[in-house]
Amino acid sequence: MTGFDTFVVVDWSARSQPSPATPTADSIWIAVARDGRATTEYLRTRAAATERLVRIFEDELALGRRVLAGFDFPFGYPAGFAEAVAGRPDALALWAALAERVEDGEDNGNDRFTAAAALNAVFPGTGPFWGRPAGLDLPGLPERGSERDGHGLPERRAVEALVPRAQPCWKLFTTGSVGSQALLGLPRLHALRNRFGDRLSVWPFESPDAPIVLAEVYPSLVDAVVQEAIGPEDIKDEVQVRVLARALEEMQAQGTLGHALTAPDAPALAEEGWILGVGAEDALRTAARAALAPPKLGNDCFALPPGVHWTPVDEALTLLRDRLAPVTATETVPVAGAEGRILAADHLARRSNPPAPNSAVDGYGFAGQAVGEGAQRLPLLEGRAAAGAPYVGAVPQGAAIRILTGATLPEGVDTVVLEEDTTRAGGHVAFNGPVRPGANTRRAGEDVEAGAVALEAGHLLRAPDLALLSALGLAEAHVHRRLRVAVVSTGDELAAPGATADPARTFDANRPMLLSLASRWGYAPVDLGHVPDDRETLAARLDEARKTADVLLTSGGASAGDEDHVSALLRERGALQAWRIALKPGRPLALGMWDGMPIFGLPGNPVAAFVCTLIFARPALSRLAGGRWLAPRGFDVPAAFEKRKKPGRREYLRARLTPEGHAEVFRSEGSGRISGLSWAEGLVELGDEGRHVHRGDPVRFLPYGSFGI
Ligand code: AMP
Ligand code: MG
Repeated sequence: MTGFDTFVVVDWSARSQPSPATPTADSIWIAVARDGRATTEYLRTRAAATERLVRIFEDELALGRRVLAGFDFPFGYPAGFAEAVAGRPDALALWAALAERVEDGEDNGNDRFTAAAALNAVFPGTGPFWGRPAGLDLPGLPERGSERDGHGLPERRAVEALVPRAQPCWKLFTTGSVGSQALLGLPRLHALRNRFGDRLSVWPFESPDAPIVLAEVYPSLVDAVVQEAIGPEDIKDEVQVRVLARALEEMQAQGTLGHALTAPDAPALAEEGWILGVGAEDALRTAARAALAPPKLGNDCFALPPGVHWTPVDEALTLLRDRLAPVTATETVPVAGAEGRILAADHLARRSNPPAPNSAVDGYGFAGQAVGEGAQRLPLLEGRAAAGAPYVGAVPQGAAIRILTGATLPEGVDTVVLEEDTTRAGGHVAFNGPVRPGANTRRAGEDVEAGAVALEAGHLLRAPDLALLSALGLAEAHVHRRLRVAVVSTGDELAAPGATADPARTFDANRPMLLSLASRWGYAPVDLGHVPDDRETLAARLDEARKTADVLLTSGGASAGDEDHVSALLRERGALQAWRIALKPGRPLALGMWDGMPIFGLPGNPVAAFVCTLIFARPALSRLAGGRWLAPRGFDVPAAFEKRKKPGRREYLRARLTPEGHAEVFRSEGSGRISGLSWAEGLVELGDEGRHVHRGDPVRFLPYGSFGI
């Protein structure tokens, strides 16, 4: 058996209404782990979750990848139940019987309590199912477990003796009662079995060698590890599925998954099933630990190789690129509203474009084979083929049919002659041959074939991408949640613009600039104001940033690695690294981690802050947001200036193009000249080497547009 490529873990929910729009606990969470990384998604209904799973499975199958999918509810019931309900001691037969008996709507509305009461009626005495809302008076479904009597079934499955904290599946009400989840989950899994046929198998009832394998999992098995991973703002369910999905992937990497997937030698296995990982708990926990270390971003993530004095720009960029990874969860959104979002998965064409061969022009269609050289005169059939209104019936060889642009080619038609090249009289159409067979038609799938990857994970959606996804039948896109970018300005000297007449104070220019860049790049800006040079205040603000954002941009000396006490705080508790980058303008760039949140400490000087943000923060933020590494695309133009540049550092000059298309630079390179940023329309980049630029020499111009602004 080849290994799995993708590991899915689903936390199911028995809610009777859609879960809240804002992600919450006790809802459905789906984690998908592949290549050492997991994304999670929150779904509000079982119907939506099932659809999502179908799509994940379809997409993975199309890419030839194998999936192991774990679900956190029992796949079977204690021995005796399946035989009594489904006529056979076979869990999968029971799934089919439950699918018949339980109704579960698009909006989570369901009849599980009534269905459970009806199932109880199959057995003598009272039970085995129990538990219901107080207001629901259902004879046949006792409110309390102790009211049950004489139903004759065991309370637990064999596997549950090994996981004592597992809830028995008979209990239907109050939180943690997996009973309701199983009643509302197994019919959905039955539907997945029907849909995927022999491309899907269910462990341990079937052998785990189909392309998609479903298995029962129990997230509490990795609880100890989850406790370590969970942050104050995290939703435990989400962390659990993520850790477990990665743990399964790690088990495979560590060679312990195969053993865990060996069918256990247990009584009534075909009826009761088994929990994947029970019997291999240590291996599972070891894998979970390995999956967590290193954390999403290591605390040492920004460490520089020792001994380096000035780091060249390209080296600094490579370091960032290698060390940063996406930190956002994922969600599914309508394509129509997905502009600016970043795809969290490869998106495959649901159908070909065009879906069927069609006409590229208005004209007359016929079989190309029947038409030769010279004057042609074909009898014209009644009716026509138009886009959306195809001609039904076949076109015999030697006859023609009126056809309009976009119309599906009727049977018998493979060639179209342009209307302007024809004359029409007396029920015939005349034109001059030859006409190349296939002329003026479009092949099915000539643009995109069904199943092909239309857009890859990491792609930033722009207007044309929305058109493409829509044309391929995708109404929704699976995207990363928007990266939340917090911005803080530091420095005692700062004041809000206009707030003071004191010439010793500096108006905070960086914050509006950085917040605007963040939103321009498609992120959610979080304004955390201004902090004076005070250790406690800064610590509190950083804690706040950690709760409300995914990444923090600071500007001012505190962050730029000065020897003050604020820097000291960052150095101690934020693993601050002052990167001395061989760059002008720009002082050391300070990079740190605050309780797992990356901090970009930008210089205070607005010109340097701006340049460092464009050059370093922009690609870094894109990676954190799940997108690609970004490098600006510039072009060479003649210089309209002269300059001698020293070797050993890269320089960015504020520049714009003259009417002739030459690059002129701002009259001063002074880094205090903020007006130059507005005067400019881009930057001229001068490489690390020394250079004497003469007028007319080619220089690299990077328009603001190439930085996405
Ligand atoms: P620093 O990096 O803190 O040494 O600051 C360098 C220069 O930039 C100083 O003149 C600061 O007053 C100025 N500065 C720092 N932060 C800001 C800001 N948010 N807006 C405008 N100027 C700033
Ligand atoms: Mg300062």
